[in-house]
Amino acid sequence: MIETIEDLFRRQAIAWPQLAAGLRGLAAARTRRMKVGWSDVYLRLIPHRLASSTAATDPDSVAKRPCFLCGSNMPAEEEGAPFDDYLIIYCNPFPIIERHLTIAHREHRPQRIAGQLEYMLKLAAALPGYFVFYNGPECGASAPDHLHFQAGSRRLFPIERDAAKLPEAASAGYSRNVLIFRDRNESSIASRLNKVMELLEQSTCFGIEPMINLAVHCDSGRWTAYLFPRSKHRPWAYYTGELTVSPAALDMCGVFVTPQPRDFERITAADIEAIYREVTLPDDQFRRVANALEKRL
Ligand SMILES: [Zn+2]
Repeated sequence: MIETIEDLFRRQAIAWPQLAAGLRGLAAARTRRMKVGWSDVYLRLIPHRLASSTAATDPDSVAKRPCFLCGSNMPAEEEGAPFDDYLIIYCNPFPIIERHLTIAHREHRPQRIAGQLEYMLKLAAALPGYFVFYNGPECGASAPDHLHFQAGSRRLFPIERDAAKLPEAASAGYSRNVLIFRDRNESSIASRLNKVMELLEQSTCFGIEPMINLAVHCDSGRWTAYLFPRSKHRPWAYYTGELTVSPAALDMCGVFVTPQPRDFERITAADIEAIYREVTLPDDQFRRVANALEKRL
């Protein structure tokens, strides 16, 4: 699969001007390493993410625009590589990280994680050196109407290093609440992740599905999953116009995106830590879910 993806990037970087522009944008991106608590967060200035960071994802706005993940609406130059019977892998024309991919379902169907974990785990196993991630329809997906994952190179993937020092349910002492799972057995990790979704559904879900960001990678048959339960899509500072930030899986994993130069210059580690706290599930609710999970497993 990796060779197929490398070929796809080589061909698309030449044939598809929008991707070529995105890759130039990524090459020119500025990055600032910051200490947020004890961990490193990489703040990245990427102006081409502005449309995505500010995308209106309410049902009315989404219904009014042509879906950019449906093959019939894609530019003629955009080409994908099939994966399994249901998914197609595309180069993301607005990359945040190296080898940024979008993996879309062949059919236009809503963004839901239920029943899809198995595909995510298989993708991760097929893409060593990458991580695969999912943004829920109400916390980061700019196409909540079309089922998709994303993936990218783990050359910059700060949470992987943090995780070596973290317990399975990390909250106290870490800047954001995250559940970490490690497993060599695909059905066992899928069933543990499904249990978390059930517990979150019972205790926190008032919308389409429990709000989560999820990242998964697989090395020599061992999966690692990072699940961030969320309480909010965007922080208050977004709505007041103070900061144009819209945290999704990548931001939670430690690559924090700012499309606006003024935010890149002035945002502090304390701001980032406060934003993480604001958008993840509050500590008391997180603890309850983590404890219930421990009892059930
Ligand atoms: Zn679609």
